[in-house]
Amino acid sequence: MSTGAGVTIPDVVDRLRSTFERGVTKPYAWRVAQLRALRSLLIEGTPEIEAALLADLRKNPAEAQLTEIGFVIAEIDYTLARLRRWLKPTRVSTPLLIAPSTAKTVLEPVGVVLVISPWNYPVQLLLVPIIGAIAAGNAVVAKPSELAPATSAAFASLFRRFLDNRAIAVVEGGVDETTVLLGERFDHIFYTGNSRVGRIVMQAAVKNLTPVTLELGGKSPVYVDETVDLKAVAHRIAWGKFMNAGQTCVAPDYVLATPQVARALEPLLAEVIAEFYGDHPEQSESYGRVVNDAQFGRLTKLIEGETIVTGGQSDARTRYLAPTVLSGVSRAAPVMQQEIFGPILPIVEVTGLADAIAFINSGEKPLALYVFTESASARRRFITQTSSGAVAFGVPAAHLLVPGLPFGGVGESGMGAYHGQRSVEVFSHRKAILSKKLKPDTFNLVYPPFTQKKDAF
Ligand code: NAD
Repeated sequence: MSTGAGVTIPDVVDRLRSTFERGVTKPYAWRVAQLRALRSLLIEGTPEIEAALLADLRKNPAEAQLTEIGFVIAEIDYTLARLRRWLKPTRVSTPLLIAPSTAKTVLEPVGVVLVISPWNYPVQLLLVPIIGAIAAGNAVVAKPSELAPATSAAFASLFRRFLDNRAIAVVEGGVDETTVLLGERFDHIFYTGNSRVGRIVMQAAVKNLTPVTLELGGKSPVYVDETVDLKAVAHRIAWGKFMNAGQTCVAPDYVLATPQVARALEPLLAEVIAEFYGDHPEQSESYGRVVNDAQFGRLTKLIEGETIVTGGQSDARTRYLAPTVLSGVSRAAPVMQQEIFGPILPIVEVTGLADAIAFINSGEKPLALYVFTESASARRRFITQTSSGAVAFGVPAAHLLVPGLPFGGVGESGMGAYHGQRSVEVFSHRKAILSKKLKPDTFNLVYPPFTQKKDAF
């Protein structure tokens, strides 16, 4: 299989391996230069990237700045401002038994890493892991999603023009190319996407005992109680849900509320949707489209037979599906059996907090859990009695904007976390270093024979 000009995927990986082994990527100066080059790529390449996002997902340029281009630039700046400090050796105290001695840990790059990314945030989810990989001093193969083809092609070209191609390469393609890549030896594989493919990636990694980070998805619940301003809540939920037409891994998947709260919230959600996208969201420049026909078919089927509060209209030709809110949805409904990953918000009724917690715990561990309540004890109960990648009170999805917070899942929603300093840790080995002087030999107490009296201690 060729990546162009007769260069095969194994050739690409060999080239990167040889670059890494020559030590090209290790110096701090190389890492900083490449991060700065990535920053220039984003600034100078903005028109190209925005056009690609518009073509792939009809992503509005303002949204693209917030969630893709600007997001990645902020992560680069955060990293550049702190990288020297993060890379400093960490001193560790040593026990009396081996005194005098000193100990520390140092971060070393792992080698050649593979980053496989999905189509829904095809800039952010490709580049943010790469920032960590470069900052940690590795060579990187980037595999963008074939389902965002314009963005994939744009980055193949931009990487060639802006970055050090000896150490950083894009391999474009789908299942076939990724399968060939997974047959190669890497020192870390960072995969973002669905859990079915996550299992394929992990299985392939076994062969070489390659560590993996799996950033997966799932159904992220929202709980709303009667103590909060429901109009404000409706704004927050609708923003998190309908951004990118619901195709966000941390989008609120469904709402749990008592019947009274649900009845009050439903019309407010309808009002807010009209406020955001007008009475004809298909004409709104702020509203995206479903990525492909297969997803469109899956999503429109999920609404069949449900009670619609607002939305429900669709157009197969343009893959438009209106922002849709469903009322009184059964826990057994098809829309509750899979991650929705589209602009459909089911509201499921619960009897209260305990019922909501029990329902959440009856499913797989979600990537995120969102809670809207003024009650401190309710907040505590969600933190201590449920398990999820993250919990956010008062706002969905915004925990991603805090680089000091680990971003990742647990259980079925993933393993490992990144962003900020953790991204550097993910692509590094923390090596233990111990030094002890030969003289004075205070260590003779531990030498055999053990029957002899030891004078030194
Ligand atoms: P996708 O179809 O683009 O697949 C992701 C990557 O896997 C692509 O690069 C693709 O080429 C590759 N791939 C697909 N099939 C493969 C196979 N059989 N073998 C090897 N590689 C293969 O994206 P997707 O999986 O549809 O993405 C959506 C999912 O990703 C959702 O579940 C979503 O929640 C999750 N997601 C998670 C995060 C996160 O950060 N945790 C972010 C975004 C999306």
